[in-house]
Amino acid sequence: MSRPVVLVTGGSAGIGAACVELAAQKGYDILLNYNSDLNGANAARVSAEAHGAHVILVQGDVSKPQDVDRIYDTLDAEFGAMHALINNAGIVGQKAKLVDMDYARIARMFEVNLLGAVMMAQGAAQRLRSGGSIINISSAAARLGSGNQYVDYAASKGAIDTFTKGLSDELAPQGVRVMAVRPGLIETDIHAKGGEPDRAERLAHMVPMQRTGSAMEIARSVLWLMSQDASYITGSALDVTGGR
Ligand code: NAP
Repeated sequence: MSRPVVLVTGGSAGIGAACVELAAQKGYDILLNYNSDLNGANAARVSAEAHGAHVILVQGDVSKPQDVDRIYDTLDAEFGAMHALINNAGIVGQKAKLVDMDYARIARMFEVNLLGAVMMAQGAAQRLRSGGSIINISSAAARLGSGNQYVDYAASKGAIDTFTKGLSDELAPQGVRVMAVRPGLIETDIHAKGGEPDRAERLAHMVPMQRTGSAMEIARSVLWLMSQDASYITGSALDVTGGR
């Protein structure tokens, strides 16, 4: 029996790397996309291979249409079919008010977090068959708005939630489910990349559960939504936020 295949974008770090590891444990083979962090991608590959997964790495910036084409060309050549997309790659900017953001920053936010995710989902929609799924990694920011922090990021994730609902309606008749997961404050390097390494820990007191979450806690929700245990769920956004 061949193993199902999942394509994970941004699988070289944080939530994406946790999804790679758990997907391998659950019996998936993996096309692991990364952008700049080859070492991180290799580490995620090694952990997945330890669980028996066949893993192929593919570099690509999801915001570039030619890279998206190359990612799917690799999928078609190496695996021939796919069963799920974990649409995870994303960026955040430095904490700032809107009046202090320049065009380049705002455009980049939407290019990666929204256009990239939409183009990746388009490739998946062309390939997924009945039983397949797309999990879009949104954010609690989509609900909270992130005023005085990064409204550009929050707006990009709000659009992901809307996109999730619309695409789920399009693909439901062919048996493909589309969901979003909205992580809360999760311990990954994304906060350091946005200039605030201690952000998650510093804001943990605002979480009803009084703690940050782990990347693996997000991965467990993602893999559950992909599974047949979630077979009557589509179009939903699941908050994984400790109650925030
Ligand atoms: P992370 O540790 O910074 O990892 C981000 C991943 O995305 C890396 O693998 C990175 O690849 C990849 N990536 C970034 N830009 C890319 C691009 N243009 N093309 C392809 N890959 C790209 O972040 P994370 O915390 O795991 O975040 C993962 C997702 O969860 C994001 O969508 C984020 O918005 C969302 N999220 C995170 C939190 C949180 O608290 N951590 C909360 C809510 C939502 P390279 O390193 O190889 O460049």
